Amino acid sequence: MLTTEKNKWHLAALGELLIDFTPMGTSEAGGALFERNPGGAPANVLAVVSKLGLSTVFMGKVGQDAFGEFLRDTLIQQGIDTKGLILTKEANTTLAFVHLGEGGERSFSFYRNPGADMLLRKEELDEDILKNSYIFHFGSVSMTKEPARTATLEAAKKAKELGRIISYDPNLRPPLWDSLEEAREIISLGIPFADVLKISEEELEFLTGKKDPEAGSKLLHEQYGIPVILITLGPDGCFYRSGDHTGYSPGFKVKAVDTTGAGDAFLGGFLYQLIKSGKSASQLDENELNEAVRFANATGALTTTKRGAIPAMPSMDEVNKMLGL
Ligand code: ADP
Repeated sequence: MLTTEKNKWHLAALGELLIDFTPMGTSEAGGALFERNPGGAPANVLAVVSKLGLSTVFMGKVGQDAFGEFLRDTLIQQGIDTKGLILTKEANTTLAFVHLGEGGERSFSFYRNPGADMLLRKEELDEDILKNSYIFHFGSVSMTKEPARTATLEAAKKAKELGRIISYDPNLRPPLWDSLEEAREIISLGIPFADVLKISEEELEFLTGKKDPEAGSKLLHEQYGIPVILITLGPDGCFYRSGDHTGYSPGFKVKAVDTTGAGDAFLGGFLYQLIKSGKSASQLDENELNEAVRFANATGALTTTKRGAIPAMPSMDEVNKMLGL
């Protein structure tokens, strides 16, 4: 039986947790300044769901260092349970530096040779969390390297066997993979577990060779039988598929200042609605699906109006206002 009340947590997420150093201009002496920000898509998804008032828990690994402690404190401040967070002496907390090119384009350099996030082992998975969460969410950054790759896939498999609803956002980050072929192969291993698959148009093309959301999602549905597929379209909103039923929900018009975390806020918004429904993904009717996607478009859009990811997650009041409620 799927009841939200029976579970200790509404949403569990497993994956990378790291520091994003974002450029903040230069010092008086002319040196480049970087701001220390918490990063990692799974934690962003938890942050929005937690901010909207539901119970969440994180699974992953950081270093036992000042950055790891900062990340743990950040989760606690967001009301996210850190039961599944391991602090290790084996490696330092993973760092990513963002560089802005002359035309404003972003590139990243990662300090992850290895980084603590890659070192999560399957023996360390907390079964209590997998057993007692309504939804289990994961991504692909934790599958780029071993042993976290095996741990991530094992967690998804266990959660599925235990009857959890599984959410998957591949979130392709090419610099983190040895090759794009490897990325495609390993990312695809996660898809059969998914009840909710969230991808961007670029990821759809990468995985299916099709740009068109209708045709690409049809292929994914036929190949894997995924109950709900969400294809995010940036400011244009989202295309969705549930079986043979497809729909489109337009984006909200906002003054976007930073799109970091928009996809995570979108997915968190959708999962919030799924949890509230008390249903499985395939049980959502057309109306419920459309409402959930509209809500997700609102959480996604609002997040672009503020800088950063976690600090930009909207409150329920802000979402209701955007929805005209
Ligand atoms: P990702 O961050 O995963 O690439 P998108 O950029 O497509 O995802 O954004 C996810 C969702 O956030 C979109 O589906 C949309 O609802 C919302 N969103 C993103 N950018 C904007 C924007 N500029 N204006 C309004 N909504 C946006």
